[in-house]
Amino acid sequence: MQDLHDISHGELLAALEELGQPKFRAKQIEEWLWEKGATSFDEMSNLPKTLRAALAERFSLGGMEQLARQESEDGSRKYLLKLADGAAIECVGMPTGARLAVCASTQAGCGMGCAFCATGAAGLTRSLTASEIYGQVMHVRDDFGSRVTSVVLMGQGEPFANYDATLGALRRLNSPDGLGIGARHLTVSTCGIIPQILRFAKEPEQFTLAVSLHSAVQRTRNLLMPGVKRWSLLNLYEAMGTYVDLTGRRPTYEYALIRGINDTDEELASLVDFCRGTLAHVNIIQLNEVPGSKFQPSSEARAGEFVRRLGQVGVEATVRVSRGADIDAACGQLRQRMERKRG
Ligand code: SAH
Ligand code: SF4
Repeated sequence: MQDLHDISHGELLAALEELGQPKFRAKQIEEWLWEKGATSFDEMSNLPKTLRAALAERFSLGGMEQLARQESEDGSRKYLLKLADGAAIECVGMPTGARLAVCASTQAGCGMGCAFCATGAAGLTRSLTASEIYGQVMHVRDDFGSRVTSVVLMGQGEPFANYDATLGALRRLNSPDGLGIGARHLTVSTCGIIPQILRFAKEPEQFTLAVSLHSAVQRTRNLLMPGVKRWSLLNLYEAMGTYVDLTGRRPTYEYALIRGINDTDEELASLVDFCRGTLAHVNIIQLNEVPGSKFQPSSEARAGEFVRRLGQVGVEATVRVSRGADIDAACGQLRQRMERKRG
């Protein structure tokens, strides 16, 4: 059965016409779907009972079942959600004062195969639909019972390997008919799929872009991120130049420090060269240890050294301190990636 969230406004109007219903019902139904987050047709109390029944015969409401929820001492909550076909995904809510940041997934698993990433190790199950991405944010909102002020697509999956659904979800999150979150507070994180970075640069909304760099040395980056080795660092550098020219916005580079791999003096010098003179923010991340992985995090002192050296050449950089460590048992990465949008 088709999920009512996945049909267009035009298709909804056509379905209503077939059912002999006036056009204004579409607006009412869309409010239930996107603003109120109804999980059953019975909740749609301003629709006639007969219409509710007719809709229930034709459409499902998708819906996600919460398989697990862990709450950290610092207030962040991590959710394991089961989708209609049984695929499971994770998302996180992180409150700070009156703000609530959500980290959501764009795919179940990921096919990019980054060597340090727990999601990458398991491979891709499937891409999510726009409403499944949006639905995670609604789930967190409802669990906290408060407004979501920012969203980062840094959960499982590569957003730019699922471009249309990602943009669809972002637009809905941004829309006043959806959650009404400002575009600048909606962030996509990509491992660096160049054609999609260029496409994203041309989108009319002011969404924020983060790029996982992790090394500015080609052979190291190839080793760490084999899924994007068909694009060279020079390609990436040029694409980011175009992105900045077109948008005027500052992208973030994510750089998880891995002891002996990308934290050496040579690596630091290359990173400085890559960023010098460009508009960028570098986020130095402590590697989140993945069980069974050979990679170890660097020291805090080394992270501080990276930030200092970047700062010396005028590149804005920060170390992201992780929260929610106590709930991170099996999650390869979710918690750390959320920190930046909290700042
Ligand atoms: N696929 C996208 C978004 C999801 S991954 C991307 O790669 O950007 C979100 C972030 O978590 C990326 O910066 C990724 O490199 C990082 N990450 C993955 N595994 C990690 C780990 N073990 N420790 C720290 N960060 C990690
Ligand atoms: Fe996929 Fe991102 Fe993990 Fe790489 S870091 S495997 S792109 S989720």
